[in-house]
Amino acid sequence: MNNDLFSELISQPIQNEIDRTKSPALINQFVFNDIELNQKSGLIDPIGDQAYAKVPGLIHRYTNRALFIPTEKCPIHCRYCFRKNELASENDFLKNDFDQVLRYLTDHPEINELIFTGGDPLMLSNEKIKFYLEHFAKIASLKFIRFHTRTPIALPKRINQEFTNLLKAFQQRFIIHLVIHTNHLSEWTDDFYIALKRLNQSHIPMLGQTVLLKEVNDDFQSLKELFENMALYQIRPYYLHHPDQVKGAMHFYLPLKKGREIYSKLRNCLPGWALPNYIIDIPGGAGKTPAYNPESFDFSGKLINRTGQLIAVNPPIL
Ligand SMILES: *Cc1c(COP(=O)(O)O)cnc(C)c1O
Ligand code: SF4
Repeated sequence: MNNDLFSELISQPIQNEIDRTKSPALINQFVFNDIELNQKSGLIDPIGDQAYAKVPGLIHRYTNRALFIPTEKCPIHCRYCFRKNELASENDFLKNDFDQVLRYLTDHPEINELIFTGGDPLMLSNEKIKFYLEHFAKIASLKFIRFHTRTPIALPKRINQEFTNLLKAFQQRFIIHLVIHTNHLSEWTDDFYIALKRLNQSHIPMLGQTVLLKEVNDDFQSLKELFENMALYQIRPYYLHHPDQVKGAMHFYLPLKKGREIYSKLRNCLPGWALPNYIIDIPGGAGKTPAYNPESFDFSGKLINRTGQLIAVNPPIL
C-alpha cells in the first residue's frame, strides 16, 4: 500500500477544535505534512502482526487473547498510525470471514478475551456490534471483551445512549473494557466530556492508551496532565506506547532515552494506578516489551522481553 493513499481525514469535531485553538498537538497529529513523503527510514509493517493472522479478521498472537478486526475504517487518520501503510485498503469483512472467526474461536478455547480493533470498531453501527456480541456470547470460553477505539475523541457523539445501553446489556455476559486512545488534553472537547459522563454513569470500565509522539506530547507536563485527567474521569492509564518506526511517520519518532527520562519523572508524581505501562513494540515480531526497567535507570540499550530474556535487537535509533 502506498503512503499517498493514507489520505488526510479529520473529523468535524477535531477540525473545529483545530480552528478554534490552533493547538500544535492537534495539527501535528492530524494535518497532512509534506514531511511524510519520501522518507527513507521506517518500516511498512512495524509490528509484524500480520504473521499471526489466523483467519481473515482475526490475529492470534498471545495465548489467551486475540484481536478481532471487523473493519479497517477509522473516524480520523492519525498521521503517525502504525497501520498507515495498510489502512485505506477498503477490505470488507464478509459473512464468510465471520463464520471462520467463530469456528477458530470455538476450536481455541484457550482464547478467553476478544479485542475489537481495526481500523476502529466504533465505526460499526450499534446493530452490527450487537450482532457480533450475540454470536460471541454463545462461545462459552470467551469471558472478556475489549474495544480499542479513537472514536470517543474523534466523534464523541458516537457514544450515544443506545451504545452505552448495548454495552451495559452485555456486561451480564462479559467483562467489558473500553480502551480509549488519547494522546493530549487538547483532544478533549466539550462533547468528549459529555461522552465520558455518559460512560461513567453507565459504569463502563475504561482504560487509556497513549502514544508518545515527538512534538505532540513528548514532555512531562503534557503527559502528567493527561494521565491526571484520565484518573479524574475514571479512565485508567493502561499503555504508553513508544512510537513505532513507521515509514512516513518517522518525524514522530524520538529516542528511547528521552521517553525514559519523561517516564521517570511521571513515576515520581503519579500513583502507580495512574501510571501506564511504558512499552515498545520490537520490530520483527518480538511483540510488546517493557521500555522501562526500573532496576537499571542507566538504560543499557538492551531490551528484555516478557519472559525476562534479553532481546538482541536494539531499536535502530536510541
Ligand atoms: C497488543 C496486542 C494484544 C493485546 O495485548 P495486551 O497486552 O493484553 O493489551 C493482543 N494481540 C495482539 C496481536 C496485540 O498486538
Ligand atoms: S484511529 Fe487508530 S487505526 Fe485509525 S488512523 Fe488513528 S491510530 Fe491508526
